[in-house]
Order: sequence, then C-alpha cells, then structure tokens
Amino acid sequence: MHAHQRTRFVSKSEDTNAADFIRNIIEEDVKAGKNGGRVITRFPPEPNGFLHIGHAKTICLNFGLAVEKGGHCFLRFDDTNPGKESTEYVEAIMEDIQWLGFDWEGRLRFASDYFEQLYACAITLIKKGKAYVCSQTPEEIREYRGTLREPGRDSPYRNRSVEENLDLFERMRAGEFQDGAHVLRAKIDMSSPNLNMRDPTIYRIRRMSHHQTGDFWVIYPLYDFTHCLSDSIEGITHSLCTLEFEDHRPLYDWFLEELETDCHPRQIEFSRLFLEYTLMSKRKMIALVEGGHVNGWDDPRMWTLAGFRRRGYTAKSIRDFCKRIGISKSESMTEIYVLEDCLRQDLEEKALRVMGVLYPLKVVIENYQENQVEELDARFHPNDETMGTRILPFTKELYIDRSDFEEDPPAGYRRLSPGREVRLRYGYVIRCDRVIKDERGKVLELRCNYDPETLGKKPIGRKVNGVIHWVSAIHSFEAEVRLYNRLFLDKNPADSDITDLSNILNPHSLQTVKGRLEKSLQGAKPGDRFQFERTGYFYVDPVDSRENAPIFNRIVTLRNSWSKKD
Ligand code: ATP
Ligand code: MG
Repeated sequence: MHAHQRTRFVSKSEDTNAADFIRNIIEEDVKAGKNGGRVITRFPPEPNGFLHIGHAKTICLNFGLAVEKGGHCFLRFDDTNPGKESTEYVEAIMEDIQWLGFDWEGRLRFASDYFEQLYACAITLIKKGKAYVCSQTPEEIREYRGTLREPGRDSPYRNRSVEENLDLFERMRAGEFQDGAHVLRAKIDMSSPNLNMRDPTIYRIRRMSHHQTGDFWVIYPLYDFTHCLSDSIEGITHSLCTLEFEDHRPLYDWFLEELETDCHPRQIEFSRLFLEYTLMSKRKMIALVEGGHVNGWDDPRMWTLAGFRRRGYTAKSIRDFCKRIGISKSESMTEIYVLEDCLRQDLEEKALRVMGVLYPLKVVIENYQENQVEELDARFHPNDETMGTRILPFTKELYIDRSDFEEDPPAGYRRLSPGREVRLRYGYVIRCDRVIKDERGKVLELRCNYDPETLGKKPIGRKVNGVIHWVSAIHSFEAEVRLYNRLFLDKNPADSDITDLSNILNPHSLQTVKGRLEKSLQGAKPGDRFQFERTGYFYVDPVDSRENAPIFNRIVTLRNSWSKKD
C-alpha cells in the first residue's frame, strides 16, 4: 500500500474524544517537546482468544490517540506463550480491529520478531551480573518468593558466576535441557516489598512449536521482559495499559534502565472496562466456547467484537460507547444500557422502519371484503422522506402480535381487547368483537370490524386505545427471527462460581421464533439493519440467511427493558 492510498478510517471530525487524564499527560508531553513531539502507541493483544469489548476500549484509546495526534499505532501481538496461542486468533484479531475502523498502516509486529534481540538483551544482563540461571524447581521458586508480608529468600543459584550463567543460558537455548530444568531470572531484590521485583523469571524452557517461529526456539521470554523491550524497539512514546500493570511498572523501568535503551516509553495505567453480564477473562470465555455453551466465539450472545458484529452492532456504536465511558483510573461496572443506547442512537435515524410480527395472532376483519386489497402508502422513516416509501397491502386477514391483545386487560392497557378499538399503524381503526379459542382456552383468532372512515383520520366522537403494528396474512412471509438475551442471569457473573455454568447461564438467552414480516423484507440482504416498529432493531444474519429467506437477529429492543418473554 502506498502512503497516499492509506485511509484514515476514523476521521477527527466524526469521532472527537473528550479530554481525559491520559490525553492531558500526552498533550503536556507534546507541548514540552518530549519525544520530538511525537506520539507513538501500540495495541498489544496476546493471540490466545478473540477480542472482547474491553479490548475495544484499549484499541479506541491507542489507535484513537494516534489519529488525534498525527502519530502512529502499532498492532503488536504479544506472542510469548506458544501453548495457548494460534494463527486463527491472530487473524480474528486483525479482522476485528479493521472492522472497528482502525488501521495499523503496515505497523504489524509480533513480539516474536524480536526474540533474537531479546536474547541479546538477556546476555547483556547476564554479563552485567543482573541475571542468572536458576535451577530451582517451580515449587521451590514459588516457596522462596515469600509473600506480601514476608520477604523472599535468595535462590542458592543466585551467585553463579557470569561464565557459568552464560554457558547454561546458551545451552538452554541449544535445547540441552528439559522444560523446567532451568530458568533465567533477573537479579534484583528478593526482599523488595513489590513481589514483581523479587528476581522475576525472564526466560523459561518450553520445547514447543510456536505459531510464528516454528521450532526455532525452545526458550521463550516472559511477558514483563518482552513487553517493555518491544515497546522500546518500536519507539513507543506512551505505553498505555490497564491498572493491574501498575505494580509491574518498576520492573518495566528497571529493564530499560539496566539495558540503557535509547527509547524509554512512559507507562501509564488506566482502569479496565467491566460491563454488566459479561466476563472479561479469556480463560473463562474459552470455557464457554469449548464447553459448547455458545456457538463459537462469534455467537451473537458473546461480548466479543466478532459476536457483536454477528449480532448486528455497528462499529460506530462500539466506538461511541468507548468514547462515552471515557478513560480514568477508577474501576466501576458499566451498565449494559450504555452500550445498547449507543446502538439505538446510531440506528435511530439510519434504519428503515418496517413491520414484523414476532408472535403472530390472526385477525379477521369481518366487515372487509373477501378478496379486496388496499394499497396503503407507508414511509420507511417518519423523519426522513428521502428514505422512501413502500406499499402495505391491507386485506381481510391480518396478523397482529399476541402481546398486543389482552382478553382481560389491566387498567391503562393501550392495545387491543374485546370491545375496544386500536389503530393499525398506517391503516384503519379496528374493534375486537369476538375471540376464537381452542378447547384449552388458547386464543386462536380475533374477529374484528374496521371503521372505513378512519384511514388517516381520527374517528369521530371516541378515543382510540393505541396504535399497533400488523401485516397482511397473505402478503407477509414467515421468517426465522432470533431473539437474544443476556447470556448470564447475573449482572456480575464474575462473582459467581463458574465451574458450574449451568447455575448462572440464562436458559432463555436465545429464543427462535417464526415471525410474519412485511413483504418488503423478503429481499433484505445479509448485513442489512432495520427497525421493526415497536419491537427492536434487527440484523439480517450474514451467515445463515439464504436468498429470499433472510434470518433476522434482534440486536436490541427499543427500550431499556426486557422481559423473559420478549
Ligand atoms: P486475559 O488476561 O483474559 O488473557 P488480557 O487482558 O491479558 O486478557 P490481552 O490480549 O493481553 O488480554 O490484552 C491486550 C490489551 O487489552 C492489554 O493492553 C490489556 O490491558 C487490554 N485489555 C484487556 N482487557 C481489557 C478490559 N476489560 N478493558 C480495557 N482494556 C483491556
Ligand atoms: Mg495479557
């Protein structure tokens, strides 16, 4: 790709972020001329799962800052853990970032690209007497580490000579030892109050194929060592990460100081996103996928970016959400409605409004002629003429939604019930005169009469109860509609014991219904989004839909409330 062909997917004018403490710090650094006034950030996912909505927060921050400050953002896979990583995840992560609207502009890196440089840094530390090969067992290392209240104890191998350390480390690389036989550790301070500084392991033996480097390496560097050096190699100016890395910052700085790197990025921590009804740990998400509790990482009930995309969320709504929640150091649970509102706001003016009946109940208009068809004109959007109109055929037999009829209505009920009138949207006022039931009392059909004087006009001398949606029985078609609800019963599933998921999973998280939809929807294309009036926003499933047989995913209801039944 040539420079002039590059597109900034997110323009400044469209997505301006409010100032936050990180933007303020960076602004000051730029003003003070630090780093030559440049801003270079990175997003460093580990390819051990799909990206979730929490990652979106970090992506929007890092890529967003690069756009705002005229800088760059690297996409760097933090791939030091071959046992848990795969190229499938690498590809999924790239697709998600692009979908979200960001561009790494050719700055795609893998920490494994730097393994040779990292190895050289480890040798430097050994030569400086700042790293040693430790031959304790993993259990001994843990035991000697101490606790928050007790200092650690020095490993008996701590004072190996530089020569011996060099020899052993080279032989570790050469594959002479089994996994776990030795590790390389930084020599810092076993009595530091910060446990991360108690001679952390920086290399371990892992005789395992790596998705990028194959069988070239049998030793792999650990995260803390790899991360700061990768940042430094790329010339990152501001290394933004979540709060759990605050205690790792002294180690981040220690490595860079000991190695006297030219570039020493500034690490700044902010709070993670916690969102109601979700679990932000990949380990737990893998358990859901592998346990078959969801249909893969892109299940529309998942809070992965792939899941939101499949469900029908727009990338813009997710970027808007990240803007709305902002960046700070305080941790809190974000309400799910905040995200849902962003979707509604995005689609409110954009989505065509159509009629779809999810739980069809037949209505026969007794005083309407048998084969008559009246073509009613209806706009696709009440506020936007340019979105056009379509014809809604009005016929003797119609469907309305079961939830719009109540035989025994509560006070204030604004829909149809025996003896009462409602208006059919864009159509006539009808009155319910008879209820036909089966022997068990289930309502099968309603017999109604219409008032021919009420098309586009108020009836004279009486009040109509409400407006409901409907479709013609013969001019509508049946379609599969997938109604998604929260995957978890509890707002904070992280509090629950997830070893037995059956206790916390919502048994009604997916309901499939056969709806009756207005004819115009038959040609809906995969990826189209609509508002079904009074019902919600819907998305034509891009995977399972067939020509002239669209399948609709409900993205979200129209309001901040939901019941088990919907
Ligand atoms: P896990 O520990 O579950 O594997 P992780 O946080 O380690 O997840 P990474 O792939 O390492 O996942 O994350 C890449 C980046 O995304 C990190 O900088 C991390 O801080 C950030 N990130 C992860 N989860 C969240 C979240 N909930 N909110 C904001 N940023 C997050
Ligand atoms: Mg991580």
